Amino acid sequence: MAYLTLRGINKIYPNGFHAVHDFNLEIEKGEFIVFVGSSGCGKSTTLRMIAGLENISKGDFLINGERANEKGPRERGVAMVFQSYALYPHMTVYDNMAFGLTLQGVDDDVIEKKVNATAKILGLTDYLERLPRELSGGQRQRVAVGRAIIRKVDIFLMDEPLSNLDAKQRVTMRSEITQIHRETGATTIYVTHDQIEAMTMADRIVVMKDGYIQQVGTPHDLYFNPVNMFVAGFIGEPPMNFVVGNVRSGMLELEDNPLDLRAVADEETLAKYEGKEIVFGFRPEAIQPIRGEEEIGDAYKLRCYVNLVELLGDNTNVYVSHDAHNTILKVDPHQAPGVTENFDFAIPYGSVYLFDKTTERRIKINNK
Ligand code: ADP
Repeated sequence: MAYLTLRGINKIYPNGFHAVHDFNLEIEKGEFIVFVGSSGCGKSTTLRMIAGLENISKGDFLINGERANEKGPRERGVAMVFQSYALYPHMTVYDNMAFGLTLQGVDDDVIEKKVNATAKILGLTDYLERLPRELSGGQRQRVAVGRAIIRKVDIFLMDEPLSNLDAKQRVTMRSEITQIHRETGATTIYVTHDQIEAMTMADRIVVMKDGYIQQVGTPHDLYFNPVNMFVAGFIGEPPMNFVVGNVRSGMLELEDNPLDLRAVADEETLAKYEGKEIVFGFRPEAIQPIRGEEEIGDAYKLRCYVNLVELLGDNTNVYVSHDAHNTILKVDPHQAPGVTENFDFAIPYGSVYLFDKTTERRIKINNK
C-alpha cells in the first residue's frame, strides 16, 4: 500500500474555476516528488490540498490508507516551505527556528539541541544571533527550511522555495535540499515551474498542464520516453525540435530531403498514417556533426543554413534553417559551425521521435 494516495482529486474554486482535474497519484514513503508545469497549471492548488490548506472538491486523499480529506494540517504531519520565506523580522535566526517548538511547549534544552543540530545541517551555526535582514537571500531561505524541518514531520511540502534566489544560490540550495531529504528521509513534494530543478532533484516528476497530469515518471523516463509533445517540449533545454511532414509510401516528406520512416517505424504504424501529417521530433543534443566525407550509418542526414550561433561555454546552441523549418542544435563548441555557413549533421534513427499531429501523443515506434 502506498504511503500517500491521491485518488480522483478535483479542485473547483468557489468562483466555479476547475483548477485540478482527476488527479491520481500514489507516493511511497521517503520519495521526493516534484510537480512541474507552467504557471497556473494547478501545482500549488494540488499541494495546498495535500497540506490541508485548501479543501478537496472531489476525490480522496489517503495517508497510510486512511482517508485524510477532513484532517487539518497538523493532524496530517506536514510542514510547508513557501516561496516567500515569511520569517519574523524582529526575531533572530535562533528564535525563528525555535518558534514552533516554543509554541508546542517543548523544553528549552531540547529546543536548543534541535536548533543547533538543524543549524549545523544547514550551515547556519554562525548566524544564529542575526536578524533576517542581516542575511543573504540564500541564508534566509535556509532558515525557512530549518524552521520547517526542525519539527519531526513525515511529509515535507515545498512551493517554489528557490524562486527568490539568484541563479547561483539556486544551484547551491538545490543540492542542499536534496541532501537534507537524504538525511531526514521525509516524504517530500516539491512544486516548481523549473524543469531543471525537477530533473535534478526528483525521484519522480509529475508534469502538469491546464489542471491535468500529463505524465508521471522518473527524470530518465520523461526525457527518453515522453508520452506527448507537451512533455517532450517541456523537459530538456533547449526544447525538442518539432517538424511537421506528410507520410507517403513509408517516407516522411520534408521538402527535398525525405526521412525514410521504414528505418524507424513498423509497417502497421506507417499504414495507419499513410497520407496524413505527423510530427517528427529530435532533441538538439541528439545530432552528430558530419565532417568531410565521414560516413554515419543509420541516421537521417541534413544540410542546414546557420542563422545564429550562441556560445554558452560547455556547449553551443546553433540556430539553423532548412527551407521553411527552423531548428536548434546543441553542438560541442569545438565542432560548432560559423554563422551563415552550411552545416551537415545526422540525426541517428534511434533518436527520432514521432507524434500524432492531431492528438499530439507520441507514436510508439519499434526502436523504443
Ligand atoms: P500553479 O501553482 O501551477 O502556478 P495554481 O494552483 O496556483 O497554479 O492555480 C491554478 C489555477 O487556479 C490558476 O488558473 C489560478 O488562477 C486558479 N486559482 C488559484 N487560486 C484560486 C482561487 N482562490 N479562486 C479561483 N481560482 C484560483
